[in-house]
Amino acid sequence: MDLGITGKTALVTGGDSGIGWETAQLLLREGATVVVSDLDQDNLQEAAGRLDAAEGTLHAVAADLSSDAAAVQLAVDVHALVGDIDILVQSAGITGAQGRFHEIDDNGWTQALTVDLLGPIRLTRAFLPQLRKGGWGRIVYLASEDAVQPYDDELPYCAAKAGVLAFAKGLSRSYAAEGLLVNCVSPAFIATPMTDKMMQKRAEGRGSGVEEAIESFLDEERPYMELGRRGEPHEVAAVIAFLCSDLASFVNGSNYRVDSGSVATI
Ligand code: NAP
Repeated sequence: MDLGITGKTALVTGGDSGIGWETAQLLLREGATVVVSDLDQDNLQEAAGRLDAAEGTLHAVAADLSSDAAAVQLAVDVHALVGDIDILVQSAGITGAQGRFHEIDDNGWTQALTVDLLGPIRLTRAFLPQLRKGGWGRIVYLASEDAVQPYDDELPYCAAKAGVLAFAKGLSRSYAAEGLLVNCVSPAFIATPMTDKMMQKRAEGRGSGVEEAIESFLDEERPYMELGRRGEPHEVAAVIAFLCSDLASFVNGSNYRVDSGSVATI
């Protein structure tokens, strides 16, 4: 299927691993120019080296998106490399502080809200002038099942992701008539370094192996994931790439769940 984005330019944050990396790969295969960005310069270069840029053009720029200054600088750096972007995929994120409410201090809250909520907001503000210029644009934010089905052991993350949904919905009203469409994708329990770390911790806590920790997590914590397995990053990237495409020309202000049914209501 031709997504109609040959020659478009995309920035993918969180691009050195998991969902971001797979998204970058798909956009490259569609002939886009892709800039991947992530926290760690060395990891980013290594991950960019594994991307196949055969159909498109690839660049990599490291940035720590926990400050407004870094988001502004990234916009300057990306513009110097590729000019204006048409597509922004905001995949950078952290799980943040975990535990019950009384166990999480202000620092735990600040960290998750800074990266997972202020991060997308600052990035959008920095890149908006570019995204509005061409009369055709796409923004896709990675939210989460947690945004609408919060779990009480990761409230900062849940609150941040709920904020992303509200922010995206409001923003989707502002520039759609100019051609800039804004949507969210909400995965659940995808096999990436983010959930690898969670499962490692769970296994250590239970004195079990990682596979057993995954099985018990699915049984006990994610009973509505009807496929009974973790998702694969490429299964999320496929939906993101669609929302970035010309085919999604009438999709705006939506939240696409890629969770095998984890959210208990339709
Ligand atoms: P991932 O593999 O850990 O990717 C997230 C990336 O964001 C990492 O490379 C991480 O860098 C980077 N990052 C963290 N803090 C950053 C910062 N301050 N500035 C720039 N980059 C930063 O996780 P993923 O599973 O692909 O997650 C992608 C998105 O999907 C996230 O927004 C996540 O919340 C969301 N999501 C994932 C799942 C899931 O089950 N995996 C479910 C729901 C939602 P480092 O590795 O160097 O820290």
